[in-house]
Amino acid sequence: MVKEKVEELFPQVIGQKKAKRLIWRALQRGRLAHSYLFYGRWGVGKDALALELAKAVNCQGEKRPCGTCQSCNWVTRNSHPDFLFLQPLPKSLALEEVGKLAQRRVQNPYIQEELEGSLSISIDVIRGMEKWAAQRPFMGKRRVVIISHCDRLTTPAANALLKSLEEPPPYLLYLLTTTHPQALPLTIRSRCQLLRLGKLSPLEIDLALRERFSLPPPQAKFLSKLVQGSLGRTLRLHQEGWQRLRREALSLLEEALWGKPLRVMASIEDGFRGRERMKAKGVIEVLLSWYRDLLLLSQGMGEFVSNGDRMERLRVESERVSLAKIEGSLAKLREAQTAIGLNANLKLVLLVTFLGLRRIVRDEGDISDRF
Ligand SMILES: [Zn+2]
Repeated sequence: MVKEKVEELFPQVIGQKKAKRLIWRALQRGRLAHSYLFYGRWGVGKDALALELAKAVNCQGEKRPCGTCQSCNWVTRNSHPDFLFLQPLPKSLALEEVGKLAQRRVQNPYIQEELEGSLSISIDVIRGMEKWAAQRPFMGKRRVVIISHCDRLTTPAANALLKSLEEPPPYLLYLLTTTHPQALPLTIRSRCQLLRLGKLSPLEIDLALRERFSLPPPQAKFLSKLVQGSLGRTLRLHQEGWQRLRREALSLLEEALWGKPLRVMASIEDGFRGRERMKAKGVIEVLLSWYRDLLLLSQGMGEFVSNGDRMERLRVESERVSLAKIEGSLAKLREAQTAIGLNANLKLVLLVTFLGLRRIVRDEGDISDRF
């Protein structure tokens, strides 16, 4: 058995030492389970680890996965005959687009594109996969199926998958990933080996942003603290233009707390036309980081704040808002985060949140009654 430092295992996967070590040992001893369920919050590297494992089982190099042999290359290009990557898609998507999307995702598992419409993995997709899986490996030792966001399987699709999981051919390896393991039927969960991937540390995110995504150090540092534990979220926020977003979020907050609530309504109306779920999520993330900073400041831990370049305003606000109010505001923002995740009406959630923050900070009654 090759002795490896954990830092050197699956180098494409950021952090996740514990999960890497477990998978590596199973791989080395030829004791991989026939199906795994990787779970953990969004953007921590579940698909990244699944992809590296998919490469490793058929890698022709010495240090598996080498990333350079023909087999590894084919997985990276999503063109390996023994590899299948499935993800939830809108019904209307053209076949050609389906392939391109999968290819982009496989090449860059930490970046997830936002798709319009309701997303699912249909029974037809699972039936197609079963047909494919019935054939023996074409060139590798094993056939590998990744089912990303497998909680989005429709009920008939989940039932069909269950049958395949019960008696898989020996060469088949299922790698399921999800942010919501509890949304999966227990029957599916119980047939997989579960592996939890934890949050990434700010240090790990900071390093990845600089080295892998070439962000300038100050920006990497800021972003790494802003969105706790998820590289995927951080990258998305970066794409959204965090500076612009933060400016907008903080000016809305100022108006909501100390200005005229009607203006906040107008700004939300103008700023969130159509489906801008990511932007709304970003606004809430910015405010969460802001209130976390206020909390840190009020506890005398100013050196750990994320919005250090706005220290003056942070200090002013931390002096006029009590600890209980900061905590109340954080709870309100977490509610908003959940509501946005559940496809609630964006403008309404934002409005209720901003007015709620005003009510908490100013000890006012329920101001939304007045509209
Ligand atoms: Zn290889």
